[in-house]
Amino acid sequence: MGVFSASSRDFPDLAVMKADSNRPPIQTPMAARLREFASAAKRFAAYALPSQCALCGNLSQRLLCDGCDAQYWNEPRLRCATCALPLSASLLRRERDDTRAHCAACLESPPAFNDTLALADYRAPLDTLVVELKFRARLAAGETIARHLLAVFEDSDLPAPDLIVPVPLSHARLVARGYNQAWAMARPLARMMNVRSDASVVTRVRHTSAQSRLDQETRRRNVASAFAVSGDVRGGHVGVVDDVMTSGATLDALARTLKHAGARRVTNFVALRTPKD
Ligand SMILES: [Zn+2]
Ligand SMILES: [Zn+2]
Repeated sequence: MGVFSASSRDFPDLAVMKADSNRPPIQTPMAARLREFASAAKRFAAYALPSQCALCGNLSQRLLCDGCDAQYWNEPRLRCATCALPLSASLLRRERDDTRAHCAACLESPPAFNDTLALADYRAPLDTLVVELKFRARLAAGETIARHLLAVFEDSDLPAPDLIVPVPLSHARLVARGYNQAWAMARPLARMMNVRSDASVVTRVRHTSAQSRLDQETRRRNVASAFAVSGDVRGGHVGVVDDVMTSGATLDALARTLKHAGARRVTNFVALRTPKD
């Protein structure tokens, strides 16, 4: 310990010392042993130690253990083809010549997006994954979610998008969080689908207040002019990626903006869908 506590007094300007390549690093047998031990421990932790499953806490080399991976994703559930809302038999309506199921809201007032794929409902325990991704920067969750979204897409009859974009954060929120959790899902998904991805095509021009505290009508007004398109999306099919779809107002506003800019079709890829408001 003495080696380290004395160092700031003995070497008052460590930055200058570091920059001077002719001067040898601190070499005491103790410091060398500690350095060796630290780097060995780091290698051991990275390659040998299993981590914990993000859902059940069991030891697992991957984000989810095999049991949780099989149990919680891709629950078989009838969903509205347009907005991915879970449908019960009483909500189910079909239009003539349309074999896909839709919720009443999408039939009465279709949103600007064409289709939505969702993995599961937004509830425990999968909501943990989104929290890990959003607030604890556990970016491996983005890769896991992308892998499952790819599987759901491959099971669907939907055409592949020409471009995949994340729902953008406002500049202020991006700076505060340091990364966009939707981009952490969008980029691996695009890579797996062999589709171009771009986080700069769509920007958030207005900082909107936290959506979860607002009622549906306020949310709609809140996001109506929140986005701007800066890339060329004319004639294209755009895939939009987000972690949680709640009312759908944000994705509706984004799809509306994309279609104003000339996009032909918009498909949403969301990890979790709130069952209802
Ligand atoms: Zn588990
Ligand atoms: Zn719907």
